[in-house]
Amino acid sequence: SEKLPLPDRTRVFTVANQKGGVGKTTTTVNLAAALARAGARVLVIDLDPQGNASTALGVEHRSETVSVYDVIINDEPMAAVVQKSPEFDDLYCVPATIHLAGAEIELVSLVAREQRLRTALESFLSESPDPFHYVFIDCPPSLGLLTINAFVAAQEVLIPIQCEYYALEGLSQLLNNIQLIERHLNPRLSVSTILLTMYDSRTNLANQVVQDVRDHFPEQVLDTVIPRSVRISEAPSYGQSVISYDANSPGSLSYLEAAAEIARRGAPQ
Ligand code: ADP
Ligand code: MG
Repeated sequence: SEKLPLPDRTRVFTVANQKGGVGKTTTTVNLAAALARAGARVLVIDLDPQGNASTALGVEHRSETVSVYDVIINDEPMAAVVQKSPEFDDLYCVPATIHLAGAEIELVSLVAREQRLRTALESFLSESPDPFHYVFIDCPPSLGLLTINAFVAAQEVLIPIQCEYYALEGLSQLLNNIQLIERHLNPRLSVSTILLTMYDSRTNLANQVVQDVRDHFPEQVLDTVIPRSVRISEAPSYGQSVISYDANSPGSLSYLEAAAEIARRGAPQ
C-alpha cells in the first residue's frame, strides 16, 4: 500500500456537522484506518454517547468501560482509557459509553468546561512515547458543550456533507459557531477540509449538490467524493473499517484516496 507523507506535528481534526446521519462517524473511522494503513499513528476520540465509532473500531465500550466520559468529567488521564484497535497496529481509540449522554449537563457546572478535552489530549500527546500523526474527534449531532470541547481541542475542522437536497441547510449555523469558537476560545481553529459523502452519480440532484459545495468552498472540498456503498454501511457490524472489510471496494478506495489527499495537502499554514 502507498506510503504517505507524515506531518511533523500532530494534526488534530474535529469531524463535525450538527446533522445526524451525514457520515461523520463513517468518515472518522475510515480516514483513521486509511491513514493507519499508510503508516501513520492515529488516534480516534469517540465523543458521541452513541459510541458508534467505538463499535466500528471493534473496541470495548460497555457501560462499565473507562471512557472519554471519565477523561472529561473525572480527570482520568487519557492514557488510562485509550484502547488499541484490533484492526491496525497504529490505530487507537478513546471509547465512548452511554455515560457520556449525561456529560453535556454535568459539564455546565465544571471549571474550564470548554477546555477539558483539550487539556487531557495535550498532556496525553506530550507524554506519549511515540508521536501521534493524526487525531480525529467524532462529534455528536449537536452544537453543545461536547462539540465545543472538540472544537477547542482541534486545529482543523472536517465537515462531511451528504450529497442530498438539504445539504447546505444548517451549514451557516455550523460555520458561525466555528467562527465564535475561533474568536473566543481557539484562534488556531480552521475549517480545512470538506468531504462530500454518500454520492449517487445516478441522480442529478447529487451532482448539483457537489457543484454547489465546490462553488462555495473551493479551497476546502476534497477532489475525492465518497460514493454511496453498501459495503461501507456493512463494515461497522463486523467491527471493521471498510478498508479491512472490503479493501478493493469503491467505498474503501475512495476513503484511501481522501486520506491521501489530506496527507498530501498537509496542515493549513
Ligand atoms: P453520522 O455519524 O453523521 O450520524 P454515520 O457515519 O453514522 O453518520 O452514517 C449514517 C448512516 O449512513 C450509517 O448507517 C452509515 O453506515 C451509513 N453510511 C455512511 N456513509 C455511507 C456511504 N458512503 N454509503 C452508504 N452508507 C453510508
Ligand atoms: Mg456518528
